[in-house]
Amino acid sequence: MTDQQPKRPLPDINEPDTREFWQATANREFRYQQCANCGTVVWHPRAHCTGCTNGDLQWQTASGLGNVYSFSVVRQSYHPFFRNLVPYVVAYVDLDEGPRFLTNVVGVADPGEDVHIGQRVRVVWEAHDEFNIPLVEPVPAA
Ligand SMILES: [Zn+2]
Repeated sequence: MTDQQPKRPLPDINEPDTREFWQATANREFRYQQCANCGTVVWHPRAHCTGCTNGDLQWQTASGLGNVYSFSVVRQSYHPFFRNLVPYVVAYVDLDEGPRFLTNVVGVADPGEDVHIGQRVRVVWEAHDEFNIPLVEPVPAA
């Protein structure tokens, strides 16, 4: 082991459209935008509504609960960070409030068998110095 372990590519947290999202992740809040004019849920964060182009977007906080919309199991990667994770799951997740975001499903023993479309998941946070990255894990059946 060395202290030069490959690192996950990280976002620019000072990018104008997404800054507020990344700031909220420091408090483990998943925030998204909703149009004050037409009600459209807007994801990813941006300056104008994708439904009506209005610029009055209001920030909302999601519960962190959602369902797997679709997914793929990555079995080979040439990226120094990701190749140490294979096999792993990349998924689109629909949060209950509407945002559909791209993430990883973690906390599964067998990525090829333990993830399915419609699966109930919840956001878990991968910690970094000034922000956290939202991943998801399965919600155990009640
Ligand atoms: Zn709108």
